[in-house]
Amino acid sequence: MIKSLLIANRGEIACRIIRTAQFMGIRTSAVYSDADANALHVRQADEAVHIGPSPAAESYLRGDRIIEAAIATGAEAIHPGYGFLSENAGFAQAVIDAGLVWVGPSPASISAMGLKDAAKKLMAQAGVLVTPGYMGENQDPAVLEVEAGKIGYPVLIKAVAGGGGKGMRLVENGEDFADALASCKREAASSFGNDHVLIEKYILSPRHIEVQVFGDTHGNVVHLFERDCSLQRRHQKVIEEAPAPGMDAATREDLCCAAIRAAKAVDYVGAGTIEFIADGSEGLRADRIWFMEMNTRLQVEHPVTEEITGVDLVEWQLRVASGEPLPLRQDEITMNGHAIEARLYAEDPAKGFLPSIGRLERFSIPETVRPTRWQHILGTGIMESASDARLRVETGVSEGDEISPWYDPMIAKFISHAETRQDAIVGLTRMCWDTVIWPMKTNASFLGTLVVMPDFRRGRLDTGFIERHIAETTYDVEAAPWLLDLVAERLTKPGSPNVGAAHGFRLNTSPCSTVLMTDRATGYSGKTDSVIGFDQREYPLISNDRDAVLVTMHGASWRFTAARTEGSHHHVSDGSILSPMPGKVISVEIAEGQAVTKGQKLLTLEAMKMEHTLTAPFDGMVAELTVAAGDQVQVEALLVRIEPSGD
Ligand code: ADP
Ligand code: ADP
Ligand code: MG
Repeated sequence: MIKSLLIANRGEIACRIIRTAQFMGIRTSAVYSDADANALHVRQADEAVHIGPSPAAESYLRGDRIIEAAIATGAEAIHPGYGFLSENAGFAQAVIDAGLVWVGPSPASISAMGLKDAAKKLMAQAGVLVTPGYMGENQDPAVLEVEAGKIGYPVLIKAVAGGGGKGMRLVENGEDFADALASCKREAASSFGNDHVLIEKYILSPRHIEVQVFGDTHGNVVHLFERDCSLQRRHQKVIEEAPAPGMDAATREDLCCAAIRAAKAVDYVGAGTIEFIADGSEGLRADRIWFMEMNTRLQVEHPVTEEITGVDLVEWQLRVASGEPLPLRQDEITMNGHAIEARLYAEDPAKGFLPSIGRLERFSIPETVRPTRWQHILGTGIMESASDARLRVETGVSEGDEISPWYDPMIAKFISHAETRQDAIVGLTRMCWDTVIWPMKTNASFLGTLVVMPDFRRGRLDTGFIERHIAETTYDVEAAPWLLDLVAERLTKPGSPNVGAAHGFRLNTSPCSTVLMTDRATGYSGKTDSVIGFDQREYPLISNDRDAVLVTMHGASWRFTAARTEGSHHHVSDGSILSPMPGKVISVEIAEGQAVTKGQKLLTLEAMKMEHTLTAPFDGMVAELTVAAGDQVQVEALLVRIEPSGD
């Protein structure tokens, strides 16, 4: 068994790997950029090495520096985590050439699965059903258009080197093909340095179903069942669960066997995921589930598999990398209960999921979040009661840390495991809604609301689910008038009798008191009554200074002071539009002096591999415009200033 390990990553996955390594008695080395000098993964590791400036290209993507750091700290092996260099065959080879152990599949396996077209051809040869489409060498636009016609619209154009949901275009009919192809190729060339595309039939009622596989160096390959990751936004996963709702045993057996064939075809060693796309219009059927791609690494959503199987996948990775055989045979791997995960991001769903970064002044996850009865959450009486779920949090930050603008703004992953899917959902909702974060905005409220939507609870899901329910789940959780009244009253007249059952709410008392929201609270309903009902439960009121309290409800927080109210979801703007993170201006829709109306599109910014639209906070006039399309901007740079119209 290896005795020391360097983790070539940051954030929650670095912390996750360190935890298992330490449990196994393996010494750990971390690497860090300028921005991460005091990050949690650095604090947790036995040793840490600075590898460069904040931009990933100058630090976490510098394979040479990472290998030097491993040698300098005497680490025997390198674990790449996910993202960054994890699927870089050249880096894997360099690690091996340096005489170190690579915790992952062979460079040859990584390469074989690296490009989507080559991977699909290989899989078709191995007898795995692949998504129907064109995966030829000829990239002549006219030829591609003819092929798209043969496949039949709608089709999906995909960059063969794409990843992270980027480099894909859905085309509904032939007229749009040429433009979509050109724009897809442009994006592919700039993001992946390779503009080759393939064309796929766009599967209707699509469900993303993937199988966790594991191989060792003794020729064994097993599967650890499937995950359903259909809840996506812009082709990126938001909620993942295991097992897949509605999957029967025979279909599961077929699918998992196909995944093992796929892994064996590339002599796969270590943890990997075979991603499939399913046509869920008539339930899940083995002949309607097609291979899409393979991810040759540990996946973000691996915890849901760990929860239902009881297997520590990182431990298996380290054992396999040390040359040990897989700890369990296929018939010894069993599935228990249901697990579901949500990705908690520093972003504002009410503003088009704009990143919201900064220092986590408050970050607390209630330790005893206990699911209560269904009707208490939903007011629907769907279930009489729910048993406790096992709740797990994976994070790379703690209170006081920064969510840095340089990397993925994920704050944490919430995982809930219970006997039944319903109970797991209740646990997840509780975690999302009871977490206190201040001052940045998060998607906690959105996540909690998503999983209690009736269709989701009934297992009616597909990759269009979020888009269809966007209005109901991303309402601006403004402080409702009754809440403002209630708190204002409490602040000015502590102990006022007409706040019903409220108790213990007094300023300058203990750091944490509670207020009981009564039925009077039903005035707070967001946009749909069926989702946001109010229950008779206690919401935490956290007072961390002498004249302010923080109220968190359904994952959104408000800070109340006697003088004014600030909402993390309700920010009163002075009209200055600042860049939320370093990025590039893609387009500017307005000019100086122009009149704008509230919500009007001002400009589009590309940051963190996504495009973000910035809009006018109120009616007014563009008083200042400091950028043009193509400009690079720093975080918090003033982009536009709107002067309110004088009425
Ligand atoms: P998955 O299917 O596991 O979500 P993707 O293909 O979407 O994988 O991308 C890999 C994951 O790696 C993404 O979730 C992406 O956000 C993440 N990632 C990329 N860079 C980083 C980083 N610097 N830190 C943490 N995660 C990252
Ligand atoms: P990436 O490398 O970005 O993860 P994938 O090929 O895995 O790219 O596709 C990402 C997502 O796009 C899938 O999870 C699925 O939601 C959607 N998708 C991909 N291919 C198809 C298809 N043929 N039909 C319908 N949806 C698809
Ligand atoms: Mg994928």
